[in-house]
Amino acid sequence: MSKFQELGLQENLLQAITDMGFETPSEVQEKAIPLLLENETDIVSLAQTGTGKTAAFGFPMLQKINPESRTTQGLILSPTRELCLQITNELKNYGKYVKGLNVVAVYGGASITDQASKIKKGAQIIVATPGRMKDMIGRRMIDISKIEYCVLDEADEMLNMGFYEDITEILSHSPEDKSTWLFSATMPKEVSTIAKKFMNDPMEITVGTKNTGSKNVTHEFYMVGARDRYQALKRLADTNPNIFSVIFCRTKRDTQKVAEMLIEDGYSAAALHGDLSQNQRDLVMKSFRNRQIQMLVATDVAARGIDVEDITHVINYQLPDEIETYTHRSGRTGRAGKSGVSMVIITKSEQRKIKAIEKIIQKEFIKKDVPNGMEICEIQLFHLANKVKNTDVNHEIDTYLPRLNEVLEEFSKEELIKKVFSVEFTRFYNYYRKAKDLNVQGRADGGGEEYSKNSVRYFVNVGRKDDLEWMDLKDLVRELTQLGKDDVFHVDTMDTFSFFNTDEKHSEMVIAALQGVEINGRTIDIEISKDKGRKGGRGRKGGGGGFKGKGDRRGGGGNRRGERRGGGDRKFDKGDRKSGGDRKFEKSDREGDRGGAKFKGKRRGASKPSDSKGTGGRRRRRG
Ligand code: ADP
Ligand code: MG
Repeated sequence: MSKFQELGLQENLLQAITDMGFETPSEVQEKAIPLLLENETDIVSLAQTGTGKTAAFGFPMLQKINPESRTTQGLILSPTRELCLQITNELKNYGKYVKGLNVVAVYGGASITDQASKIKKGAQIIVATPGRMKDMIGRRMIDISKIEYCVLDEADEMLNMGFYEDITEILSHSPEDKSTWLFSATMPKEVSTIAKKFMNDPMEITVGTKNTGSKNVTHEFYMVGARDRYQALKRLADTNPNIFSVIFCRTKRDTQKVAEMLIEDGYSAAALHGDLSQNQRDLVMKSFRNRQIQMLVATDVAARGIDVEDITHVINYQLPDEIETYTHRSGRTGRAGKSGVSMVIITKSEQRKIKAIEKIIQKEFIKKDVPNGMEICEIQLFHLANKVKNTDVNHEIDTYLPRLNEVLEEFSKEELIKKVFSVEFTRFYNYYRKAKDLNVQGRADGGGEEYSKNSVRYFVNVGRKDDLEWMDLKDLVRELTQLGKDDVFHVDTMDTFSFFNTDEKHSEMVIAALQGVEINGRTIDIEISKDKGRKGGRGRKGGGGGFKGKGDRRGGGGNRRGERRGGGDRKFDKGDRKSGGDRKFEKSDREGDRGGAKFKGKRRGASKPSDSKGTGGRRRRRG
């Protein structure tokens, strides 16, 4: 008798569980299912991603609703479209033997009338993202006045994304006496606040240790110069020929850029972020699931909760703004008892963050060196040798064998090996033979903050009230000045004004670039501040050391773009990359239309897609 039978689930649900091949309930399921079946209670459940939370609330909800009624009885709110669709799918699977069941997904970016008409047919359960849900309630397309169960899934992430107000608004349309089930991987203050505000004396379920990641994940970091991030990424990929990975970037723009560069360099990569249409995202996810894509470059929001098995590596191309997010990222690998590696590419100034993350995950990072060129060549060579060894002989070749023998007659076995392997090896060798060492030596104390002695602090008359968080301001300054990520540092935004630093040598240019630029209807006034800024470490999130890079233009060899352009190679459309001053600023990778200050720059045509890319490692990775 499987343990699922002991949880009190009905036969038709157990049947679906058997069909899905679930054998034993996970810890959160074991704790939540009986509790929710037996009680009408609010719960707060803390469990890591990948612990089976969907089934933990899904089965009790399916058992408790009345499928014969067409009234909406259950509402599940989740942060992203992907998750919303994933949960809807899971629920449909769980409830495949529940007669009359109708689960409808409600999310932005798809036809609202289609969704409304599905709901009109009678949806006992609605799975929704907060934005669209609020919208549809406002238009009276959805009635949740009779719901009995409300799930807040990935509550921490919803709050991170700024959905607090939407959730409040939505819940104000729901009955007081419903049960609220909150699920979250982490428990920041905001989540406890929401629990206090919307819940009555919730029961608590905690699975594993709070905030720590999977036991099966090894954490590594690689320290490189700010301009070498991309090269480092390529080497990490080349060192792991069978890599199947998610690569996290901080913004949609970087996500798009890195994916494009990888594609141009011949990797099977694609971008996943909120600026793609739903259709494009579905396509990307489909190719990723079928392994046609080996490297999925994604924002945190877009990749949140996505459940793809056997991801070998998570690569943090940049660390997340909120270090808590690291747990979610690394949780994409090491699932279902398999082992995985989470790699972080950092610059010297980010060492402190590694220490902070170690505290959260309660595990130590291994500091590793980015492999040098010859190491990679060697790895690739033996990868090929093993591939040859394990390849099944295609006997179609047999008929040609006499002629092949003739062609190759003069060579000994050794010579033949050399020649065959040179075909592949030489490409790597040519690319990597003169490759430099990318590793940067850190300080033993991990302090890492190399404060630029010749830095200048600026005062600008815009701040949070103008919809600028420090990251936005940093992006804005970088966009207008073309300075690199680490050239603009100690960015501090207040309500109505802000500060940031750059090296002294840039000061004239920085002032000229920003003075008079209009942002959200306000004209920037910039001056050099007397205050030099804090010299010690910043006490809050975000980096900002004084690493002196010259912008983050990607290094690497010559320009061989033409070769692959327009070929059948590129599978996904570029996003709507605009160059020039009136690009819309992204707020980190927050999704949807919220945030994102628009500014009018006076400089035009500022940034162009970089065309000085590395060219090595070109190869097709499919099949
Ligand atoms: P979470 O929401 O906690 O991140 P999910 O509910 O998405 O996790 O579940 C992760 C994966 O594990 C899904 O593919 C799901 O089908 C699978 N799964 C859930 N419960 C079980 C179980 N008891 N046995 C095997 N697989 C399970
Ligand atoms: Mg989930």
